[in-house]
Amino acid sequence: MQPEQFGPYRIGPRLGRGGMGAVYEAVDTTTGATVAVKVLATHLADDPGLKARFRAEIETLKELRHPGIVQLLAYGEQDDQPYFAMEIVRGQSLEQLLRGGRRFSWQETVAIALSVTKALKLAHDHGVVHRDLKPANLLLTENLAPGEGVKLADFGIAKLFGGAAHTAHGNIIGTAEYMAPEQAAGKGIDHRADLYALGLVMFAMLAGRPPFRGGQVTEIIEKQRRTPAPRVSSLAADVPPELDALIDRLLSKDPSARPASALALNRLLTAIETFVPGAEAGAALSPDQLVIHDATLPHTLDADPAAAAGSGDRTTIFGQTPGASGGGRAGMANQGTESPVHTPRPSAPRQQAVPAVLTAGVHDDATFQQPAEAGASTRVDTSIRNRFTTVAELQRLESVRLTQIRSRQAWWRGGSAVLLLGVILGGGYLLLRPFSADDLYARITMVADSDAADLRDADDSIRRFLTRYPDDPRAGEVRRLNRTMEIDRLERRARRKVRSDRLLAPIERDYRAAMAREHESPSVCLEALRALVALHPDSNSDAADAAEVSLWLELAQRQIARLTPLAIDEQQQDARRIDATFAAAASLESDAAALADPAARADVFVRRRAILESIIHTYADRPHAAHAVRSASALLAEPDIPGATSP
Ligand code: ADP
Ligand code: MG
Repeated sequence: MQPEQFGPYRIGPRLGRGGMGAVYEAVDTTTGATVAVKVLATHLADDPGLKARFRAEIETLKELRHPGIVQLLAYGEQDDQPYFAMEIVRGQSLEQLLRGGRRFSWQETVAIALSVTKALKLAHDHGVVHRDLKPANLLLTENLAPGEGVKLADFGIAKLFGGAAHTAHGNIIGTAEYMAPEQAAGKGIDHRADLYALGLVMFAMLAGRPPFRGGQVTEIIEKQRRTPAPRVSSLAADVPPELDALIDRLLSKDPSARPASALALNRLLTAIETFVPGAEAGAALSPDQLVIHDATLPHTLDADPAAAAGSGDRTTIFGQTPGASGGGRAGMANQGTESPVHTPRPSAPRQQAVPAVLTAGVHDDATFQQPAEAGASTRVDTSIRNRFTTVAELQRLESVRLTQIRSRQAWWRGGSAVLLLGVILGGGYLLLRPFSADDLYARITMVADSDAADLRDADDSIRRFLTRYPDDPRAGEVRRLNRTMEIDRLERRARRKVRSDRLLAPIERDYRAAMAREHESPSVCLEALRALVALHPDSNSDAADAAEVSLWLELAQRQIARLTPLAIDEQQQDARRIDATFAAAASLESDAAALADPAARADVFVRRRAILESIIHTYADRPHAAHAVRSASALLAEPDIPGATSP
């Protein structure tokens, strides 16, 4: 017997059944809201592997928030029986609709597939491969708007386990009709397996049935692996060639021949929706198209599969023989933590051996009841362990955690400065407290006095101090610091590139031009800055930009102070180099005088001229070396051989 209440949820009518348990409509007694509650069947709750599997579905859903994915609301365990609550989807599964004979126009197919690609993209971005994408796991809400109203459910590959006359040791790996060839081959799979499955779903929406069917699972698997899918256009009228070709590509046996990602597929579908004539007709489904054919969903689910037009031979695959023990259970434990596949964990055992075929034509959802009942009666667990967690609470905790992580990252990024500041700032709530002038001043001076700190760290405190305590005796000092910060900001701005559409103020242009020469020569830069200061006297600036000009001037003065010792060094170095170069030229000249051979002498003079010219080239633009340039020019003007004219 199923309990009537799980945590705060009062269990109502059953909405559906699958391999691991059942989904019920339920009312949250604390809020009155109606939800869907999925419960792991009592007899399976004793199996650690299956329990882990069920919990894995919860963990997966926790990560996924998307309008196209059933939203997890809360989860818990009651008397060791796990359950979770999710948003209730009012409507029918695509499988129910197909089985009721519903066909979809190509526009509807594209619109629904588009929604699914969005949901898949999110899942894939989270490293989750659904692996069990099929009509039964696509829930269509009653109020379908274009691109809305389709929700991807069942992230548990519930079909992995359980099922009908088979014990929980049966090990299903998916549903053959909707299984990618690589999955059917027991190879490793990735997100492209879901794209293949979506291709099959689209095929079934248009044609009324998936491309590969058979009486035996092996047969279907073999077809998935090796038989080229028929063109959907051969089974459905009015499919535009673009869509026909796209579905064919999705059904490629080789994953690399399929569209590369859910996003890529989304773009291709959007292109078809946008550019193919007639796309506007009927892209949205109207509620009356989704009338539930059977009175209740469970009945629909229990319908004779053979009678079902849409997916008559839904086939479930088992990896172990029913009732298998030993090795079978080991395999189960594996499964228990494995799927859906999380791609970032390639080491996870995601491959499945080609399964031993146990059954074909079994309705996975409808064959559940028997073991559920049997298991319930033999359940002997007496330990009561009730737990309940809401996703809202998790999100609150998560946001607290994120805030903590972010502040920790900022901490490390800022290195010692932030470390220091962290000590000063203390707990976050302190930030909100109105600080006394002493507090603020202490913070400011701590930062200002620290070599490692950036004055920007004190920005906030300075601003608060000057706003709240303008008459404090220390305000003058803080204002000076503030001024320093403003100049810092200006300096940083001047280091950034100028957007081509911005006309600079003259003083900024001069400043930038001066600073551009810093690396060529600090002395030249210094001269240019001095010229700037002379050219833009503080008092001359008109009121509008007076404040800005005075900041630029102060920045220029700061640079002058910084560059002066560098310029002195440079000039001393240059003077030494110039002296050495002239000495070398002079010694070449005396060498030449000693040479008797006119050709050899001319050679030496050529070298001397080159040396003198290098002085002119190197120092032509450096005012501090003007005398050297002049001397070199004068020497070059003289004839190489005293008394002769130069060549
Ligand atoms: P299983 O893993 O056992 O296949 P599913 O999660 O696929 O379980 O749910 C089984 C069935 O229950 C679905 O096919 C669907 O008909 C119904 N169902 C599942 N989730 C919801 C929901 N959130 N709202 C309404 N019906 C649901
Ligand atoms: Mg399902």
